[in-house]
Amino acid sequence: MAAPAKGKTPAAIPAGIVAEAPAAGDDLFAADPLRQLATLEALVPVVDACRKCALGHSRRHSVPGEGDPKAGLVVVGEAPGATEDETGRPFVGRAGKLLDDILKAIGFRREDVFICNVLKCRPPENRDPEPLEVAACSPYLHRQLELIGPRVILAMGRPAAHALLGVTASLGELRGKLHRYRGIPLIVTYHPAALLRNPHWKRPTWDDIRIARRIYDGDGA
Ligand code: SF4
Ligand code: URA
Repeated sequence: MAAPAKGKTPAAIPAGIVAEAPAAGDDLFAADPLRQLATLEALVPVVDACRKCALGHSRRHSVPGEGDPKAGLVVVGEAPGATEDETGRPFVGRAGKLLDDILKAIGFRREDVFICNVLKCRPPENRDPEPLEVAACSPYLHRQLELIGPRVILAMGRPAAHALLGVTASLGELRGKLHRYRGIPLIVTYHPAALLRNPHWKRPTWDDIRIARRIYDGDGA
């Protein structure tokens, strides 16, 4: 993959969706006990005890997420797969190896960032998350993002983009733009599992992650 030409000013990043936090008066979660949890570690046993959707009964291990609690970059995937369900850790299977390479390409080690998913429990047969499961689980993700307060969020795949931006556009429409999640710059790109199936999406993914790196470095946001 080629490095950007030296001395060339990077192109402006087109503006995308602005997803605001709920207004104080109608924040359904204002009285939510999650608000009382002051650290990421405090969320772990709560997620593990969660049975808000049926996935809590079928999974082996919950997968809350891991990484630097003060990370400047948070990566959000879809849901645990088989290896993640076995180990309780996010992105440790084949897609995870590719994610490690993607992060390395922009100068991050896994432990430098925070990695998590929209769903904290594995859907059977890796089926797509259902809207009710996303609704039940996403308060954990919102709280994680609130506690970390990253400089940039990388949403990998449609479910992550949809859960965070509250829209249902195609990935093609969502990528290549600078969105805002509650004031935080958010970039959408392909999910690593999709890249394993469609290697021709590697090039656009490379473009997207370089944008995320630029924003992390203080440019474009
Ligand atoms: Fe709870 Fe989320 Fe697991 Fe459903 S997927 S049981 S909402 S932690
Ligand atoms: N795919 C995901 O979206 N998340 C994981 O943790 C693993 C595979």
